[in-house]
Amino acid sequence: MEDGGGGASLASSGTDAKKRRVSYFYEPTIGDYYYGQGHPMKPHRIRMAHNLIVHYGLHRRMEISRPFLAAPADVRLFHSPDYVDFLSSVSPSTLADSSFSRHLKRFNVGEDCPVFDGLFAFCQASAGGSIGAAVKLNRSDADIAINWAGGLHHAKKSEASGFCYVNDIVLGILELLKVHRRVLYVDIDVHHGDGVEEAFYTTDRVMTVSFHKFGEFFPGTGHIKDIGVGPGKNYALNVPLNDGLDDESFRGLFQPIIQKVMELYQPDAVVLQCGADSLSGDRLGCFNLSVKGHADCLRFLRSFNVPLMVLGGGGYTIRNVARCWCYETAVAVGVEPDNKLPYNEYFEYFGPDYTLHVEPCNMENMNNPKDMEKIRTTLLEQLSRLPHAPSVPFQTTPSTTQVPEEGEEGIDQRPKQRIWNGEHYDSDIDEDEKPRIRSFDTDTHPVVKTETMDVKDEMEE
Ligand SMILES: [Zn+2]
Repeated sequence: MEDGGGGASLASSGTDAKKRRVSYFYEPTIGDYYYGQGHPMKPHRIRMAHNLIVHYGLHRRMEISRPFLAAPADVRLFHSPDYVDFLSSVSPSTLADSSFSRHLKRFNVGEDCPVFDGLFAFCQASAGGSIGAAVKLNRSDADIAINWAGGLHHAKKSEASGFCYVNDIVLGILELLKVHRRVLYVDIDVHHGDGVEEAFYTTDRVMTVSFHKFGEFFPGTGHIKDIGVGPGKNYALNVPLNDGLDDESFRGLFQPIIQKVMELYQPDAVVLQCGADSLSGDRLGCFNLSVKGHADCLRFLRSFNVPLMVLGGGGYTIRNVARCWCYETAVAVGVEPDNKLPYNEYFEYFGPDYTLHVEPCNMENMNNPKDMEKIRTTLLEQLSRLPHAPSVPFQTTPSTTQVPEEGEEGIDQRPKQRIWNGEHYDSDIDEDEKPRIRSFDTDTHPVVKTETMDVKDEMEE
């Protein structure tokens, strides 16, 4: 492995060769959580990514922490008390009890977001990682903090959505706001980052920028004209894209827009949601990005030398998710890993080529240059309406407590969009990895025997 200077070629910063202190959060039991047979969301992909990271020796270049489990009180800093009570007490065996079943529809729990063994402990680990990452950045103990179990951007204040129950991103950003005046949130998942946008829609202390497929696609929000309201007006940015987005088109939008955002907004911290369902060949996605094209977003943001939180998100062709998040971990620590994969526990997933990188496919790019130019112009124009950051007092409080409670009836009547058509994904190797232990105590830390916690031991090749 050679030390890579890829980011140094970026025009935005001449200091990219500087090493970054990287803090990485990993819960060793995360891969055991199981959404159910045929469900496309597989926490196992996080364990696969971790395994690659270890076999490339990247763990030696960063600090590794096991996340604390976010307490219900931590989760309530964004989510409503009744929703948190529900999540923390429901289980597959009590699901049919009337005390739970009457809440399922209200909290949108059931189809896309099933109740599975250890559900709340899974949410606690995911949220604990993102809050822990924020604490590291707040204390200046790290330049970059990574939590691949985070990035669950669809979760709402009182509602699960799109495989997400607890919005670790909102909780992480709220923690960052204790120390930082302005936080930039960037989302490159193929789906719109609706939960995070909604949480901060009326404040200028968080700017949200989401790049996503728009038009007959979950969750249906993220129109280019949705720009925020009140003090948050112009502090939400939406980049609607079409099927087949390739690396070149993506870079042509991402870099000028983010460059301008960094110049004008001057965030004190940045959160990047690296949903890997924007990669070519994703089972639920429709873009055509390579791992390198995806990782270029991280490389670009890293080059600005602003405290950076890096999170996971979607990603349903799990061998590619593992490849992507491993490569992005390498980008974070500043090395260029060999394309030939080291032998690892899940080696058979990566055949027939056993390489780190995947080539995009030959699908048609439905984003024509004319449309892209129009989107770029519109958004750069919206950005030009921002006051220059240092001259404005940023004092409005985040809107998380201002989101109006909706009546139960209203929620029940609203048509619930689904992120997944229910088609089973049981046919290939992804499904071979069945949960090793299926019994959890939802009140306490799950008792799961898997990898040893001493990551260092396990990691020696
Ligand atoms: Zn997604």
